[in-house]
Amino acid sequence: MPDKVYPVDDTIVAVSTPHGRGGIGVIRLSGPDAQTLVERSFRSSEPFEDRRARYGVFHPAGDEALDRVVVTFFKAPHSYTGEDVAEISAHGNPLILNMITSALVSGGARRAGAGEFTLRALAHGKMDLAQAEAIRDFIDAQTQTQARAAMLQMDGALSKRMHPEKEALVGVIAELEAGIDFAEDEIEPPEPKRGADRIATIGRNLAALANTFQYGRLLGKGLCLAIAGKPNVGKSSLFNRLVSNDRAIVTEFPGTTRDVLTETVEIGGVPVRFADTAGVRDVLDTVEALGVSRTLATVAEADLTLVVLDSSRQLDDDDRAVLATVEDRPHLVVINKEDLPAQWEESNGWNAVRVSALAGTGLDQLEREITAYINEGLPSDSETFVITNERQQEALKVAVDKLECAAAALTERVPHEMVLLDLYAALSAVGELTGEVATDDILDRIFSTFCIGK
Ligand code: GDP
Repeated sequence: MPDKVYPVDDTIVAVSTPHGRGGIGVIRLSGPDAQTLVERSFRSSEPFEDRRARYGVFHPAGDEALDRVVVTFFKAPHSYTGEDVAEISAHGNPLILNMITSALVSGGARRAGAGEFTLRALAHGKMDLAQAEAIRDFIDAQTQTQARAAMLQMDGALSKRMHPEKEALVGVIAELEAGIDFAEDEIEPPEPKRGADRIATIGRNLAALANTFQYGRLLGKGLCLAIAGKPNVGKSSLFNRLVSNDRAIVTEFPGTTRDVLTETVEIGGVPVRFADTAGVRDVLDTVEALGVSRTLATVAEADLTLVVLDSSRQLDDDDRAVLATVEDRPHLVVINKEDLPAQWEESNGWNAVRVSALAGTGLDQLEREITAYINEGLPSDSETFVITNERQQEALKVAVDKLECAAAALTERVPHEMVLLDLYAALSAVGELTGEVATDDILDRIFSTFCIGK
């Protein structure tokens, strides 16, 4: 199936460690010629043995010795890709790693594309598509909660979770197919109400799983938090407090399609990034400097907005304007400057959090409120799996939709041939989830988000 995207019968090579200098850098080869290609340039006094690290010199014929390296072979099928794999641990100097890679390319290896090693693992049945995606998510994880969710998926949790639903669906399909045969033999087809109930139950289970994406989306992509308020209420001060108080995530992802994450902090296990991070300090004075429309745009892009009010000054129309912009959006009211004498009392049933960005008080409570918002979407205890990517949610939604149509059609005694069309469409969507029915488009989309060498 994936062989239309990349050829899967040649030998590929890539540097698998991040670009830059380090103690070691690893070059990985996979394919039928992995061993031959490496052995041609590898001089070692130690005998070849599968899965055994050997020390030696990488010295291409007709060239000078490039580095002292450790080479490990993994014979097919007991390797990451399911093919013969060689790993060369050289010193972590990009120049040397590139020279070794180029020597291997001259020898006949092809430079691997993004995610191609994992794609091969998929092609050789070492994992399913959901597990491949989980590997990418695991490598990209920025919080322990994200890593834990990805780890579950790497172990095949989604496929296991889907198994009973798929079995049930196949069961219904089989019965209806048989019903069509019965009809020819003038035997009573199965009772429509019972079939419709069974289909509806599968649909409900899949819908429950799809709904976990509310939390899974925040877990995967992070929460986008906006801070709104008129000038001088303390937005920048609050922002600085949040960024310095929490573990700030300043990881960059060179070579990936992800945005560079700078002002991102971890709250409640999910990455929280601030809307308008490009110069957040300059654009926070949204109301006055940039007008209400800018506030609106920022708030619209955010998952949650903190509306900051100043308790040491009277509430005025500017405050009310900001409050009006968030009225219909998820927001928390933060009453700042509680260290100063209050000029007004909260009387609007806002359930506001009182803080002092200057003194640092109330921030724990504010974080608890943000965490509570994040956890609102937490799945029930009975649902242990969380859908973290949109592709999976889309596939589930299609399945749920088709199942609903099928159940309704069956109740209305629409001919089984028609009902079966919907059921097969649902089955195909379920298959897409774990990659049994993966089109080239889907594979292309997924693997373009991988790094080279993965
Ligand atoms: P912004 O314009 O909303 O970003 O407000 P700033 O964060 O720049 O704060 C405006 C002024 O209020 C600064 O002089 C801050 O030091 C002060 N300020 C901010 N938070 C507090 C607070 O909790 N208590 C007191 N007393 N002053 C504060």
